[in-house]
Amino acid sequence: MNIYKMDGSGLQWGRYCMVCNRHYTELKSIGRWQCRYHPLPVLKNGEGGVLSKYPDGSYACCGTSPHPYLANGQRNPNFNSTKLKGCCEKDCSGIQMLFTDADNIPYRAWPENLRIEIDPDIQALLRGERSYAHRGIQIDENNELFLQRYNKKRHHEIIKKADENAKKYINPLIR
Ligand SMILES: [Zn+2]
Ligand SMILES: [Zn+2]
Repeated sequence: MNIYKMDGSGLQWGRYCMVCNRHYTELKSIGRWQCRYHPLPVLKNGEGGVLSKYPDGSYACCGTSPHPYLANGQRNPNFNSTKLKGCCEKDCSGIQMLFTDADNIPYRAWPENLRIEIDPDIQALLRGERSYAHRGIQIDENNELFLQRYNKKRHHEIIKKADENAKKYINPLIR
């Protein structure tokens, strides 16, 4: 989304999230990370159990499987309805599935209505409080505020852990 070209009114348009189908407005959802995703794909074609400790049909990031039942009709122990939607947080979006650093929104680009929406959280942060709704509020190396659209820290932790597990695990058959 190119927010620079959006005036504040565009932030109030109702949209449906491409991932969770929630009806939302950017104004009330930007930076709140109310949606989820899996940072890594589902293991397939024998990758599971060879390149990962998780079996085929599970997400490589967290081992959750989208399939409630196995081929033999038994309950799938890796199915987990609470983790199914994703193990990492992101903003809802009717425009894109995933976010990157290219989607960061610097404070100077926030329309006035967005500044007003987020201001209580900025004040809470300035008071040193740890509880605020806009978890995407970040501070860059120049001490400037910006909004991050996904939990980048957690995204990288998940990928690092999956890499480490894969190195430890890689099945001796293919060494
Ligand atoms: Zn996952
Ligand atoms: Zn969503």
